[in-house]
Amino acid sequence: MGISIEHITKIYGEQKALNNVSFNVETGKIVGFLGPNGAGKSTLMKIITGLIPPTNGNVYVEGINVAENDVRQLIGYLPENNPLYLDMYVREYLQFVADIYGIKNKKQRVDEVIESTGLQLECSKIIGALSKGYKQRVGIAQAIIHNPKVLILDEPTTGLDPNQIIEIRELIKGLGTDKTIILSTHIMQEVQAICNQIAIINRGQLVANGATTDIQQTTAECQIVEVEFGSEANIDAIQQINGVMAVNKMNNFVYQISTNKDIDIRPELFNYAVRNNLTVLAMQQKQTSLEDSFHLLTNNKA
Ligand code: ADP
Repeated sequence: MGISIEHITKIYGEQKALNNVSFNVETGKIVGFLGPNGAGKSTLMKIITGLIPPTNGNVYVEGINVAENDVRQLIGYLPENNPLYLDMYVREYLQFVADIYGIKNKKQRVDEVIESTGLQLECSKIIGALSKGYKQRVGIAQAIIHNPKVLILDEPTTGLDPNQIIEIRELIKGLGTDKTIILSTHIMQEVQAICNQIAIINRGQLVANGATTDIQQTTAECQIVEVEFGSEANIDAIQQINGVMAVNKMNNFVYQISTNKDIDIRPELFNYAVRNNLTVLAMQQKQTSLEDSFHLLTNNKA
């Protein structure tokens, strides 16, 4: 049954943090919830866990409405910034969390999660003395200790060094076989590395959702022309050129233009420059990567 997010809107005071967001996640999938800072990722994750109510809409986890039921046993949650009790020992903390969930074979279960999260050598240390990567393992261990069906991981690799990032990604991938996982990130490579599905959110709106391979396929359908003019160009005029799908102003007078991959817009673009007395300082055509399409989808157009 997985997770069903139906028409979720969240308004904080004057601010609409989420605007009618809907998508489904099948059981056993790892979904990357991708978007720039402030897009609404943490807000949606808190709503999925039942921590905060939506203004409108419903979330069902394994068919259960999270706003109307106690879903703590079903869901494991690693909040952003991983709040931990830094003065506690690793094992002591995990036993404490196991008690909160009323876990019966506490010692055995704590040993199991210590092993599955690779904390064997650190389990007798004080949490405050651990490296950031190991603190993150403790955060994941507390999230899985009650063997939840669904795991919600908010920015699980932020602030880690490159080796720690790889280790935590491997750990998450290993957990994914019998759990439904949603992880949020603003890092494109993260979703490519570990997720089967990608949901992209921008300014509270879902702008893309699908299998990672499908989204990669879609991005393969277009290409990008990057052009640098000597002065300001007219975006609306460029948009009129046959084959142009979107135009983004990058910086100064650099424009990134996404185009249909079967149409080479460069001659027409050059003609446009000549007609408007614009100097072309550079122009190159390249295939889009998932990263490019993320930027195109989340570019804050007026
Ligand atoms: P993300 O996790 O993608 O960075 P958030 O969900 O944290 O985004 O925030 C989405 C928007 O909602 C932001 O503009 C943020 O400032 C706003 N926001 C988040 N939490 C609150 C809150 N408790 N009160 C008011 N505004 C909030």
